[in-house]
Amino acid sequence: MNGFDVTYDVIICGGGTSGVSAAICGARAGANVLLIERFGTVGGQFNVAGPPGFTYSRLFNPKGQKDTGGIVEETHHRLYETGHALPHMRPAWRAKAGYTFSYVDPDWWTFLIFDMLEEEGVTLLLDTWVTGVLKDGNSVSGVRVEAVDGPHDIRGKVVIDCTGEGYIAARAGCEMKCVSRDEIQPHTMAFTVDGVDWKKTLQYVRDHPDQFSYKHLLNPYTDNTKEAVYEAYSKCYNPIELGELMGFYELRDIALLNGDWHPFSGAGFFFTPKEGGVVQAHFQHSSQVDHCLPTDAWDLTRCNIECRKQNQIAWRFFKNYVPGFEHAYITKQCNELRIREGPRVVGDYVYTRDDVINCARFDDVIGMSSFRAGAYHVSSVDVLSAVSGHKDLGQPKDGGSYDIPYRCLVPKKIENLLVAGKCISADRAAYMRYVQQTMITGQAAGVAAALCARDGKTPRELEKDVSELQKILLEQGAILSLPD
Ligand SMILES: Cc1cc2nc3c(=O)[nH]c(=O)nc-3n(C[C@H](O)[C@H](O)[C@H](O)COP(=O)(O)OP(=O)(O)OC[C@H]3O[C@@H](n4cnc5c(N)ncnc54)[C@H](O)[C@@H]3O)c2cc1C
Repeated sequence: MNGFDVTYDVIICGGGTSGVSAAICGARAGANVLLIERFGTVGGQFNVAGPPGFTYSRLFNPKGQKDTGGIVEETHHRLYETGHALPHMRPAWRAKAGYTFSYVDPDWWTFLIFDMLEEEGVTLLLDTWVTGVLKDGNSVSGVRVEAVDGPHDIRGKVVIDCTGEGYIAARAGCEMKCVSRDEIQPHTMAFTVDGVDWKKTLQYVRDHPDQFSYKHLLNPYTDNTKEAVYEAYSKCYNPIELGELMGFYELRDIALLNGDWHPFSGAGFFFTPKEGGVVQAHFQHSSQVDHCLPTDAWDLTRCNIECRKQNQIAWRFFKNYVPGFEHAYITKQCNELRIREGPRVVGDYVYTRDDVINCARFDDVIGMSSFRAGAYHVSSVDVLSAVSGHKDLGQPKDGGSYDIPYRCLVPKKIENLLVAGKCISADRAAYMRYVQQTMITGQAAGVAAALCARDGKTPRELEKDVSELQKILLEQGAILSLPD
């Protein structure tokens, strides 16, 4: 018997942050798990297309309550212990907005995840595309894959779509929601840079604190001010205290006039820690291309081509205009787009903007979050101020956190299928695409699928009693409630 002939308890499609969390946590809950990934590595938007700007962020709400634990905290802790992550940073001027962050080395994150998958006995199938599902009526009974030697059918008791864009759920016949090509947020492509003279760059930051962004750090429920943010910039001697450095307004505007900046994104970057205390600059907003549906290969191709052009323009600007970048060089140009928006599955519960702003509570809670609603990007130099000014923007009330219910992971009508990650069931304004959210929903989907496989239940039947799911999640370190 080879790996294609086994009937697995749980088949996970896609090895991004949601998929690896589902695989590790589902295996810990006793399931025989197969994780299928189209690339030769796991990680998805975290490492192939990343790292994400803040890496693991917003683990505390603006009130200062820790609302995220589980697999997020565990992986951060393991990387921190081995010197491949920085502590979770909560300087007051960012913590009041909930914009806390923990930088990790994405290459060591990848090594760690491979180790953890092996530790838990997950079967990994790389370089293999899931192309569809096997179905008995409305019930999913496995997947069809295209492997290097051709197509195969693989049977599984429960399938989890962790492809980010819900590609497998769509093929299973689930109802999907996606905005039109005209409305979709711009996608981007990231690159990482080494050789920055941080002393020079930080001297510029201290001398020009008003040249950097602050609006996204103001929260109606806390007393953060523009002045407090500027003061932090004016006193900074260590780049990693900053979290991000977005703005360079005057320099950017001069460059725009000179034809040395493209008008599709703002200027700035995040940080990546490397061994020996090295800090790299990581650019993930330097290209932005709109009108690109992630379900259209021609759109994706155009976006790929255009992002690489914009990245080169942006990089020339930093080399020629920004103090400290004179001798810097690109160490990594990502080979996958960072997809900002895609389809969402319609599930048994659709999360709403009101749920976010009212800090909604649910009996079937599987995790919590404080990420605001309506964080849209536009392709313009005002990318960040456009986000702050959007009409759908809504902060959780009183700086608190909201519950994520299990039913958002269960697609309507189709049985034996769960979704986790970016594409779970939510309105556009309540889109749950942040890394910690994708790992929380991945962890819950993995455990839920393991229980369903063990007991011969469908994920929808599990909705009737989630007490064992919640008990196991708590044992795995998840946070399901906060003191009032
Ligand atoms: C510009 C930008 C900035 C961001 N910044 C931040 C940030 O600062 N902080 C933060 O927390 N989050 C940030 N995010 C969001 C976050 O990085 C992603 O939303 C998250 O990592 C998505 O995880 P996922 O598991 O849902 O999907 P993905 O990471 O996309 O994983 C999906 C996986 O499925 C695989 N796959 C797809 N189709 C198939 C198939 N048919 N067969 C087999 N495999 C398949 C893919 O190769 C991939 O590995 C940002 C996103 C963008 C676009």
